[in-house]
Amino acid sequence: MRCHECGGVLVESRVQFEIETSNYGRVIVTDVPGKVCQSCGSRLFPYRVAERLEEIRDEIECGKRTPIRVQRPPDHELAFALA
Ligand SMILES: [Zn+2]
Repeated sequence: MRCHECGGVLVESRVQFEIETSNYGRVIVTDVPGKVCQSCGSRLFPYRVAERLEEIRDEIECGKRTPIRVQRPPDHELAFALA
């Protein structure tokens, strides 16, 4: 799989992802599994990871969650560009 922006090589890695919440402002989810382009730094996340990030934001906003660590979900072929 190649970067959709520049065609560079994507490498599996764990990244930090910022999400905007209404109650805590910007929070960082650590250890998010994704692919990072070695040329332009563009990031790609599997669709399930993107979905999980949405869920985490909802959980933070309704007070169900304060720790902000995401579990590694099963990998998924569909990718979702968030960079
Ligand atoms: Zn790239």
